[in-house]
Amino acid sequence: MLQLNCPWCGPRDETEYHYGGQAHVPYPEDPSALADEEWAEYLFFRDNPKGPFAERWVHSVGCRRWFNVVRDTRTYEVLAVYTNTEPRPDLGMGVAAGGQR
Ligand SMILES: [Zn+2]
Repeated sequence: MLQLNCPWCGPRDETEYHYGGQAHVPYPEDPSALADEEWAEYLFFRDNPKGPFAERWVHSVGCRRWFNVVRDTRTYEVLAVYTNTEPRPDLGMGVAAGGQR
């Protein structure tokens, strides 16, 4: 079972969390100016790398706070955990950790 280290509560089993999708997806600066295809891309299209990937998690049965995790999608290894106010750690692995966003 995957174990995540909540920045506020410490290590807990995956069952205490909910997955929130890709991290670092910015809200469009001017949503009303987007074409339908651009809006659909913002809503539905996410990176799907084979390797390190920055994703959002919420400790839903604990402190109910959101945080980010860089997880290797091949091995499930958790490479980094950081809060939403901390910068994405530079793991020296290029853009795969959450893409260019
Ligand atoms: Zn927590």
